[in-house]
Amino acid sequence: GNRIHSATLWAAATDSRNDVICTSVVLASTVFGWLTEISVDGYAGTFVAVFIMWSGFSVLRDTISPLLGQAPEQDLVRDIKETVLAHDGIIGIHDLIVHSYGPGNRIISLHAEVSSSEDMMRSHDLIDRIEREIMGKYNAVACIHMDPVDTDDERVKALRLFVEEVLAAIDQSLTLHDFRVVFGETHTNLIFDVVVPFHYKKTKDLCEEVQRRVWDTDPQLFTVATIENSYT
Ligand SMILES: [Zn+2]
Ligand SMILES: [Zn+2]
Repeated sequence: GNRIHSATLWAAATDSRNDVICTSVVLASTVFGWLTEISVDGYAGTFVAVFIMWSGFSVLRDTISPLLGQAPEQDLVRDIKETVLAHDGIIGIHDLIVHSYGPGNRIISLHAEVSSSEDMMRSHDLIDRIEREIMGKYNAVACIHMDPVDTDDERVKALRLFVEEVLAAIDQSLTLHDFRVVFGETHTNLIFDVVVPFHYKKTKDLCEEVQRRVWDTDPQLFTVATIENSYT
């Protein structure tokens, strides 16, 4: 059951174990009653009933929670990140999701950041190769979205650093990706996604808070932030 993470095999094992326990209890109570002439059938029966119910619920929970969506194993997440980042040409990754539909049925999706100055055909070729590597390594369907990142423009780099500092000042756990800049005469738009931890409370006010802090430094900078939850 553990080797292929199969809840069904575990359920079958639990069932067999329960049969052994229940039969033993019934047998023991019969022998006890026969030896001492005190009937414990009622107690034994109640015990068996409660035990079967408890065990049924735990099997149900193990089967249903992956379908309702549970956080992927941390080892797997780390391993996938390392696999993708091991390739030259991949600057970073984000929005990694492991969609699990039961044992052996996984879809891994992620965004891979590549340099916008790299040839698009080459970047796509690289992405395709990584997809195939993930399919082979994790026995899963892989879907990688390609995000171009401007790594050459010094102004963009400086602005990104500035926004990262603003976010860190609000909360250390906030991260940013897909940072783009639209330069204009009277104002400049900073467009980016912010990833907040799964249980982050102040998501609603975050956009305003970021804008307020950015304006403290430069009133011509406008932020267009998309807030998203971390799935890992
Ligand atoms: Zn993206
Ligand atoms: Zn492709």
